[in-house]
Amino acid sequence: MQLTPDQQTELRDKAASAEPVLEVNALKTYFFTRSGAVKAVDGVSFALKRGETLAIVGESGCGKSVTALSLMRLIPDPPGRIVGGSISLDGVDILALNDAEMRAMRGRDISMIFQEPMTSLNPVMTIGRQLGEVLRLHQTLSKSELQKKIVALLSLVRIPEAAQRARQYPHQLSGGMRQRVMIAIALACNPKVLIADEPTTALDVTVQAQILELIVDLQKKLGTAVILITHDLGLVAQTAQRVIVMYAGRKVEEAAVGALFAAPQHQYTRGLMASLPRLGLLRGETAATNRLQEIPGMVPPLTNLPPGCAFAPRCPRADERCRVESPPYEEKVAGHWAACWHPGASNGRGHD
Ligand code: ADP
Ligand code: MG
Repeated sequence: MQLTPDQQTELRDKAASAEPVLEVNALKTYFFTRSGAVKAVDGVSFALKRGETLAIVGESGCGKSVTALSLMRLIPDPPGRIVGGSISLDGVDILALNDAEMRAMRGRDISMIFQEPMTSLNPVMTIGRQLGEVLRLHQTLSKSELQKKIVALLSLVRIPEAAQRARQYPHQLSGGMRQRVMIAIALACNPKVLIADEPTTALDVTVQAQILELIVDLQKKLGTAVILITHDLGLVAQTAQRVIVMYAGRKVEEAAVGALFAAPQHQYTRGLMASLPRLGLLRGETAATNRLQEIPGMVPPLTNLPPGCAFAPRCPRADERCRVESPPYEEKVAGHWAACWHPGASNGRGHD
């Protein structure tokens, strides 16, 4: 990871250019189950620029992880399959690669941090060896170079006494330290795209903040483009430049972070924002009334979406048209896209 000044300049220049490093077009990933085809990702398109942090938000079951796993080509088949669309990573059509080519790309060009580090780390191998395996898979290094690189990577993710830690096993580390190791593994080969899927959900609040700060810091330092997946809009405000909101396998809104928070267009996004916890109590409020204002109802089964807008059954502003006619995904304000018949504030009703 020790970059020469030339490499650093190159990365910074790349980050500054608006050229996308990843382009996803009309992606469809379905799971073929006994109760029918689960349309987990149903026609999702987006682009990720070099060095950018793009957040994907939505409640549990909206298709965020399946989107991520599709980009990594890690969808379990059967029952899952990418049935449509295209994914271009730095100009390479990754859906056209064979398994060996895709294995070479994973880790080197695109890598992923999962929610629960304990399940992704090998319990009977020291963390140094696990890092070494990833490095050796993609690079030819002498034994001493490898050792140096392992220690450098562990230091990069701010693991103290890296050389000693490298000789330890996953169970000897705290949850936060294990997630740092996962980040080191994911960044070992300096990928162009890093996907962080709920990277802090399993950690306690103080450690969450440290891990996020680390990801943001490394992203800046290395110029990696990051896709941050989370159900927590609060995290998005601190880390991302752009946000995609997913509902029931589809993209329902996309905007720059500031624009999304200032004036959400989709009623679903408004609902997500209303369910953000507030710090402290307002006057006249008790702990009980400051409870999160959850969106009523649940994400519909993805085998059988209602006609019209999929959010209509839960939406405070839904009318007859919403229930029968799918709202077009369109640019409501410059650079701010949404699929909603009733964008904007909801005149006193609902989640304001
Ligand atoms: P989230 O937004 O919480 O990450 P996921 O992407 O994990 O949601 O899941 C999207 C949908 O895909 C869910 O309805 C889930 O049940 C379904 N799904 C995911 N994996 C499988 C699988 N292996 N078999 C069947 N359905 C699946
Ligand atoms: Mg998920």
